Amino acid sequence: MPSKIIQVKEYTVRAHKREIHTRVFNFVCKQCDEPTKRETFGPRPLYCEKCRPPQAPKKSSVVPLRKRKPRATTYKSDVDLAN
Ligand SMILES: [Zn+2]
Repeated sequence: MPSKIIQVKEYTVRAHKREIHTRVFNFVCKQCDEPTKRETFGPRPLYCEKCRPPQAPKKSSVVPLRKRKPRATTYKSDVDLAN
């Protein structure tokens, strides 16, 4: 298998604050095919507010993963090896 060494650039973005603005998009909803407009911070939305009503970010998705306690596994040696 041929191989070669390439140079990979390093990108460093420091944490920073940035002011962003909402934009009003005029678009056709993918679900109801109705021309609509929607104000959003992000990219062009796909659905109107009827099909995808704006909602607060779900808190359930922020719930941290269960902390798994390492269980000591004990192997019972009651297998009869003396066959
Ligand atoms: Zn719609």
